[in-house]
Amino acid sequence: MEDRYGHHISYLRVSITDRCNERCHYCMPTEEQEWLARDEVLTYEELLRLIRITVDLGVRKIRITGGEPLTRRDVIWFMDQLGKVPGLTDIGLSTNGTLLARPVGEGGVTHAERLRQAGVRTVNVSLDTLDRTTYQRVTGRDFFPLVLDGLEAAKSAGFEQIKLNCVLMRHRNEHEIWDLVRFAETHGYLLRFIELMPVSTTEVLSEENFFPIAEARRLIEYQFGTLEPAPDFRTNGPATYYRLSSGQTIGFIGAMTNLHFCETCNKLRLTCEGRLRPCLGSHLEHDLLGPLRAGASDEELRRHILEVVDKKPKEHDFRGAYQPGRRMIAIGG
Ligand code: SAM
Ligand code: SF4
Repeated sequence: MEDRYGHHISYLRVSITDRCNERCHYCMPTEEQEWLARDEVLTYEELLRLIRITVDLGVRKIRITGGEPLTRRDVIWFMDQLGKVPGLTDIGLSTNGTLLARPVGEGGVTHAERLRQAGVRTVNVSLDTLDRTTYQRVTGRDFFPLVLDGLEAAKSAGFEQIKLNCVLMRHRNEHEIWDLVRFAETHGYLLRFIELMPVSTTEVLSEENFFPIAEARRLIEYQFGTLEPAPDFRTNGPATYYRLSSGQTIGFIGAMTNLHFCETCNKLRLTCEGRLRPCLGSHLEHDLLGPLRAGASDEELRRHILEVVDKKPKEHDFRGAYQPGRRMIAIGG
């Protein structure tokens, strides 16, 4: 699938739940969540059908996300089925890590091990801080020790790659950047620093708390020496990678400041309530749940998906929508 700007679509990010066991203030800031009712969310069978159709259309990589995907009941059953979809070459999972070490059922096998057995190649674990108190402040939960256990479980499970995703926030975690670099190096995790984006409904992004990736790179160079661009090193997403003289690779995801961010975008997103979005940073979305439940054929669903691809914008609208001092809810961030 190719859109009108030459983006070649091969990657689908699938949210399987809107629920989460944490409350990161930049993502789900309030305690009172109105969760979707069960029948408003795509069933596993519906998800698998839509995924099979996108794979027929050329998707090769799927990343399962949420909310927190591991909070959805029977997620391992779903991942087992996903692992059997012919034509998929790469399955990844994004998680806050808190449930990776938890046993699945009675047997003592961890979620991490079962995910690996199901065919998940890579896990992305969110970790913005190595300090338990800061972790609690950022996520609203005192789960830092669970994440450390989860990371160990992921290591033992033998994933091909474990990435650490760290959202940069001024006055919150910039003083930990060096420690995070060392932590990732010690454990063999691929660390990526992410710029805060206006994706929540409250004032999560302001001039005071925004911390650009260029500044993170300068701080890292001050302590560890030159960061050489590593254009040969690519994962499937929008990160640009650099290498330290030690050989450690570090990624930077600068949706707000990297003006070339969208050029190589290869992604579509399927929300848990069955809306297909051509771009995270645009309000365009297309309902697939309605047609699916009204009995649409595979061919009709294929047409809907291609319509979304055709509407994929040239680039996201975050910079236009980013108006410091203005509430994100007012601009629909
Ligand atoms: N619960 C899982 C987790 O935390 O990794 C998966 C879903 S979470 C929405 C996926 C990623 O989005 C996480 O790495 C999180 O840090 C990031 N994220 C959420 N809100 C963000 C924001 N406002 N700006 C930048 N990244 C954000
Ligand atoms: Fe939950 Fe992940 Fe959002 Fe944090 S970033 S509230 S862990 S979905």
